[in-house]
Amino acid sequence: MNPDRRQIIQTIGLFGITGIGCSLCGCKSAPVTQRRQLILIPEGQEIALGAQAFQETVASEALSANQPMAEIVNRVGKRIAGVAERNDYEWEFRLIASEQQNAFCLPGGKVAIYEGILPVCQNEAGLAVVMAHEVAHALARHGGERMSHSMAADGVKRVAEKLAGKFVPDKQQLLMQAYGLGTKYGVLLPYNRRQESEADHIGVNLMARAGYDPVVAPDFWRRFAGLKGEQQGGLADEFLSTHPSDERRARDLLALMDEARSIYDRAPQKIGIGQRLI
Ligand SMILES: [Zn+2]
Repeated sequence: MNPDRRQIIQTIGLFGITGIGCSLCGCKSAPVTQRRQLILIPEGQEIALGAQAFQETVASEALSANQPMAEIVNRVGKRIAGVAERNDYEWEFRLIASEQQNAFCLPGGKVAIYEGILPVCQNEAGLAVVMAHEVAHALARHGGERMSHSMAADGVKRVAEKLAGKFVPDKQQLLMQAYGLGTKYGVLLPYNRRQESEADHIGVNLMARAGYDPVVAPDFWRRFAGLKGEQQGGLADEFLSTHPSDERRARDLLALMDEARSIYDRAPQKIGIGQRLI
């Protein structure tokens, strides 16, 4: 059975046992692609957990001392946030002093960029590719979806544990896992292939609407893939098994370019590739 289907069936079993109707939970659609999603966690709760996890993560990481670069991160982030249609998010953009090629956006618009990814970005538009992609994961609630799948897969067991009065793992920990915080990756968190393609699609549209030329997106991912192959060593296989293949990703992105270009053409302010970062 396909894993999604199995998880849904387990979830229905879970809610049957606990007496909560499926109509109260689960069935959402992702922005832009309108893909149907199973999400069991109220968004408000996901946002609160995101804010808390961000405080805890950022508290353990030194902020960048590179003020001009931090300002660029803030500027690009604000432009993307300005077109994300989530005024309820409390957006924050932090540049972390670390050579990791990493970036993430937690629910509620908490964005962290690591200095190590800036040379891969090359310019503001390249930074917009990665920021818009990470923001897209949050907008489409991919972490919440992943948490829900874990909860669903584990649902019957958890209910049994609950009935037996055992400890139920807390949601904070699930969120940290769902967003890859505290893992050894040190690279952009791999979601599943469908979520990655969806974040690429939503991301290029977002950056285009924010006024950055989306034409740089395939090149950014090609450069990132090159580094990934060189530097990840043993992690490469694991990474590649969840990410779309580079070839397929580049092809899919090219197929999205017409739509993204037409959005860019209509953007009220055009920044092109913006300032160079290196
Ligand atoms: Zn991603």
